[in-house]
Parts: sequence; C-alpha cells; structure tokens
Amino acid sequence: MENELPLIAIPFDKLPSKGLPYPESAKIEYRTYTFGETKMESASSGSSVRAVKRALNCITTTGMERGNITILDLFYLGVLIKMSSEGASEFNMPYMCWKCGYEGEHKFSQGDLDFKDMDESIEELPMKVVMSDEKELHFAPMTAQQYIDLYSGKFNETFPKNKPDEVAPVATLIKNLKGYANAYNYLVNMTNPEDGELINEIDKMLMHEIKPLTLKCPNTLENESVCNADLSLKLEGREALLKPFRTRETSIKSRIFYGNAPQHNTKRVRPDGVSTGSGTE
Ligand SMILES: [Zn+2]
Repeated sequence: MENELPLIAIPFDKLPSKGLPYPESAKIEYRTYTFGETKMESASSGSSVRAVKRALNCITTTGMERGNITILDLFYLGVLIKMSSEGASEFNMPYMCWKCGYEGEHKFSQGDLDFKDMDESIEELPMKVVMSDEKELHFAPMTAQQYIDLYSGKFNETFPKNKPDEVAPVATLIKNLKGYANAYNYLVNMTNPEDGELINEIDKMLMHEIKPLTLKCPNTLENESVCNADLSLKLEGREALLKPFRTRETSIKSRIFYGNAPQHNTKRVRPDGVSTGSGTE
C-alpha cells in the first residue's frame, strides 16, 4: 500500500530483542495505521494472524527481510504503532481486580513499558548447541513470518491433531534443520530427558517481551480500607495487538456479559484528559 505517512525509526536497543537477531547494519522503521486500518483494528474479529500481518504492513526494513523481525519484537512494535496511531501520550488499560472485582482503568505511557530481555549470556544468535545424539542445532527466536506460517495452517499436516500443539512454537526456534517438519519431528522424537530440559531452557533464554504493568488495586472497600491487591496487566502478545487500549466495546466488562446488557456500573466515566478522538490536549 502506498501512502505518505512518515516513518519512525526504532533504535535496536529500544526493542525487546535489543536487535540481537538482526544484522547490525539493518534498520527497522514503522508508520502509524491509516484511518482504514485503525477502523479494522477496532473491529477486529480476533484473528491473530491478520493482526500480525496488519502490524507487519506498517513496518519497513532495510538490510533484512521484514518477516524476520521476531514475533515478540513485532508484538511490541504493534503496541507502538497503535500508540502513535491513537495520537495520544497516555493510554488506558481496562482491568478487573481478581480480589474485589473492582473494574478500573490503568493509565500508562510509552515510558512505563519495560522489557524482559533475552538471557544476558546470549552474545550472538543463533545459539549453537550439540544434542546428546551429537547433532548440532542452531536456535534463534520465532520470526513474524514463522508465526504467520504456523498459525495460518501452513504446517498443519505435520501435527498429529492437524493443528499446532505445544511443541509447534518451540520447533520454530530451530533454524538449521531443513523444513519445519524436520525440526518438529526431531523435537517430538527426542528421548533423552536432558535434551528436553535443554530445549526448555533455550526457549526461556530466547524469551524477550514487554513486562506486565503492575499496580495495586485502588478500590476502597466497605470497611474503608483499600483493597491493595497486586494486579498485573499483560500487554504482550496477540491480545495487545488486537485490543484497542481506549475503546469501550472491548473492555473486560463487555467480554463477561453476553446477551442482556449489564445492569450495573453504568455511571463510570472516562477519566479527564483522554479524548475519544484523534488526540489529547
Ligand atoms: Zn481490588
């Protein structure tokens, strides 16, 4: 799609992966969603593959394939794209307290986002590991293209139940076995328990994501005390891509009540300083 929307470059050290999976000279830039894309975004019927493709469509890369962006970086870029598209500096994340049931909205800005980095012992990618059968395997994070392939059904014949199982995403981490099915079958047929532990460890080491936003429930209870329950709001993942931060329809409440309209809490109003339009202030 051709458009004149300006591109915003993202420095590698500002990505969850710190750019480790990419060539040093490469460049990643993103643009905001167009009006049409924003509309589709809020009306999203929930296909994560479609949301990933839509976010990827806003990204321009130099010196590397766009599809080679890690899916976890893309989830983060998707949040940035959405933030810049909404033209506001603060965002609201609706939540419901697990302890007292209070429904609130947590305000956050880009600066509040923090990452869980890949394991600091990883100096470069891929990680090379010799398995107990002497086979050398190379590991790197799942890319956006692999995510699209995996969840759009491209490899479904590989799986016993014809859809991705728990091993499926792990198999995308193996980069040096030709063909996805080979990587999957290798993992499924491993017999040495130590190999299994090793793979789990590698999976963990390669993880890089946005840390959940944490807060204490501010609700005042009937006995005048404050609930104070620890809440953790996860921004990461397909939910973050699919869910608009500020649109009422997708608040938790609307997910819980089906059919009849909820009878309670109709007085809640949008906090000051947050517009429903294209920007604030
Ligand atoms: Zn609470």
